[in-house]
Amino acid sequence: MRVAIDNIDDKGLGIEEDIPASIWEIDSRDVKFVDKIHLNCNFLKVNKEILVKTKVVLSQIITCSRCLEEIKQQIIHNFDFHYNISALEDYLDMDNDIREEILLNFPMKVLCNSECKGICSGCGVNLNFEECKCGNKVKTKTNSK
Ligand SMILES: [Zn+2]
Ligand SMILES: [Zn+2]
Repeated sequence: MRVAIDNIDDKGLGIEEDIPASIWEIDSRDVKFVDKIHLNCNFLKVNKEILVKTKVVLSQIITCSRCLEEIKQQIIHNFDFHYNISALEDYLDMDNDIREEILLNFPMKVLCNSECKGICSGCGVNLNFEECKCGNKVKTKTNSK
């Protein structure tokens, strides 16, 4: 997303753009970005600053750290940026700053669902989809009483 500073005024300028996710190379071990990154930016000149409100829509495939399922999720980020006009060249290039915000907002722990039940340590079934076969769960319940 690259905009000429001259095109930005105090009325605001909205631009949308799709970028193939692979270009930004933001994948990590547990999170792979797929399809397109959709950017929706609104540029506004206020005195000596440019304010940019961005909405970023991402599709990602995560490997849940509890149950190890691969899940496709859509994520929406809203980032606001401020730039001092005197510090800018003729163009404002948003890509690096947005990319960095996405990386900063990476979840510490990726889960398919905050309620994910994980995998039974006894029989290895995914407890989100199947009943435990080994009775590990029942045993734990009895013990905790
Ligand atoms: Zn899970
Ligand atoms: Zn089990």
